[in-house]
Amino acid sequence: MDADSSFSDVAERRRDILSRMDASCTAHNRDDPVTLVAVSKVQPDDRIDAALRAGHRVFGENRVQEARTRWGERRGEVQDLELRLVGPLQTNKAGQACELFDVIETLDRPKLARALAAQASPPPCLIQVNTGLEPQKAGVLPESLDPLLAEARALQLTVQGLMCIPPMAEPAGPHFAYLAKLAKQRGLGVLSMGMSADFETAIAFGATHVRVGSAFFGARQPG
Ligand SMILES: *Cc1c(COP(=O)(O)O)cnc(C)c1O
Repeated sequence: MDADSSFSDVAERRRDILSRMDASCTAHNRDDPVTLVAVSKVQPDDRIDAALRAGHRVFGENRVQEARTRWGERRGEVQDLELRLVGPLQTNKAGQACELFDVIETLDRPKLARALAAQASPPPCLIQVNTGLEPQKAGVLPESLDPLLAEARALQLTVQGLMCIPPMAEPAGPHFAYLAKLAKQRGLGVLSMGMSADFETAIAFGATHVRVGSAFFGARQPG
């Protein structure tokens, strides 16, 4: 695919998502802003450049190393770029993550809170909650949310809100409602929830950030 067709594809997909987001906001009486986070993991350079040319500035990545490769140079060239880590973070990558990312959405355990707090200037964080209680999935269990929040705050980390990835096999709505309730009870304003298949539902339940990958860039290519 040549660069120009990639540009029109991505620009058009982006416009379409933004207008569906607008419609969902209107339908659910939301007049606060909802941010579209373009999840750029695995996507080829021409699509990234197309997104930037279309004026997009907020991107999500799920791996520190891959994100450094993709954004290391662009970081200095693109004004107002905002990079958000949406994948699990190992404590030994905390330093690199703090250098690259503007927000870490996946704080999920005390050990990681301590590793982030030990860095020179840790970015604001969201706490990822494992709302589906899935053993293999990242995220703090709901019962351990309060102790983690307290520890993060005691360490002077800024916790802006909550993030979740609902189980694949279940309707997402109840998980979004639950995450929204957990956030509201704790006075946390940011809610990162909703992906390509369900971002409109997430907006209905109060998402402030939706993380959209394949609907924005096109299918992730294998390999
Ligand atoms: C890949 C990914 C997304 C985007 O998924 P799509 O279904 O392609 O929109 C969103 N959030 C996280 C945490 C991801 O890893």
